Amino acid sequence: MKDFEYHSPATLEEACQLLKKYDGQAKVLAGGTDLIPGLYRREIVPEQVINIKGIPSLNFIANEESKGLVLGSLVTFNEIISSPIIEEHYPILKEVAEKIASHQVRNLATIGGNLCNAAPSADSAPILIALDSTVALIEPGGKERTLPLEKFFIGPGETALAPGEILIQVHIPLLKPRTGVSYLKQTSRQALEIAVVGVAALVRLEKKTEKCSLVRLVIGACASTPLRIPAAEKILVGKKIGSQDIEAAAKAASEAVKPITDVRASKLYRKEMVRVQCKRSLEEAISRAKSSPETGME
Ligand SMILES: Cc1cc2nc3c(=O)[nH]c(=O)nc-3n(C[C@H](O)[C@H](O)[C@H](O)COP(=O)(O)OP(=O)(O)OC[C@H]3O[C@@H](n4cnc5c(N)ncnc54)[C@H](O)[C@@H]3O)c2cc1C
Repeated sequence: MKDFEYHSPATLEEACQLLKKYDGQAKVLAGGTDLIPGLYRREIVPEQVINIKGIPSLNFIANEESKGLVLGSLVTFNEIISSPIIEEHYPILKEVAEKIASHQVRNLATIGGNLCNAAPSADSAPILIALDSTVALIEPGGKERTLPLEKFFIGPGETALAPGEILIQVHIPLLKPRTGVSYLKQTSRQALEIAVVGVAALVRLEKKTEKCSLVRLVIGACASTPLRIPAAEKILVGKKIGSQDIEAAAKAASEAVKPITDVRASKLYRKEMVRVQCKRSLEEAISRAKSSPETGME
């Protein structure tokens, strides 16, 4: 690891001042589960490292009536797993967090770090896009902006963050009635494994007809960024979905992705697993939509 200057601000203002002072040359450190290995491998050689872990205002979970769920960027995956708010209102996030890494890594790994690291295989990205999440960012001058998460990812390790910007919050809208969500992760072993394919599905059904009024299908680990698959979504919207429609949508998703072959899986295997996991994920989301509460914000 190359030497660097280390800073540990106690407030967001202080962090912003440091980021302004170092003019986009400093690296933000959260849980360090991606950054520290990168520093050891000398893939990243910053002059300045700014540890934001000591900023309490970035670590909270709140369920707000107008915004839905708001997660501070420092919330760890184990905090997501043990949160009663998430268990009650957004159990899918607990399910996803349980599929990430190991207990020890989840004690450190933050939701903000998972998104900002922008690995194509990151597990939180597809489900948060399916849920129509937005992220709140703050620039070194203190100005805040929000961005749909779908627009946040630019390529592997590349995001819409401007130099020195910090991701401060993730906003997840309220889940409307008769909406079901699912995230399935294809891995080459059961635990402590990065996704070969990740599939998130959100399906909403109309009250009386049970026709599908909304689908978001998002695939991870098959492109440089998480991918929404409009061609598959179109097959399902407006229909009372039957098994043939699900098969057709899963096939369309498999045809739409252009994955690469790497150490984890071949291109052909990934395409086939996209088909299989899209089918299962859609089935699970539909079944959950059918049994989801009838009441809630329309
Ligand atoms: C053994 C192991 C297993 C893993 N398994 C999985 C897995 O199954 N699924 C998965 O998705 N990931 C996995 N990971 C990756 C990693 O744990 C996650 O990506 C984690 O959420 C990163 O968060 P962090 O807080 O550790 O980020 P850090 O390592 O601190 O930071 C990661 C990057 O994001 C930037 N950053 C962090 N926070 C912010 C912020 N708030 N604003 C701006 N920039 C920021 C940093 O500068 C850095 O570039 C694994 C890692 C390990 C070591």
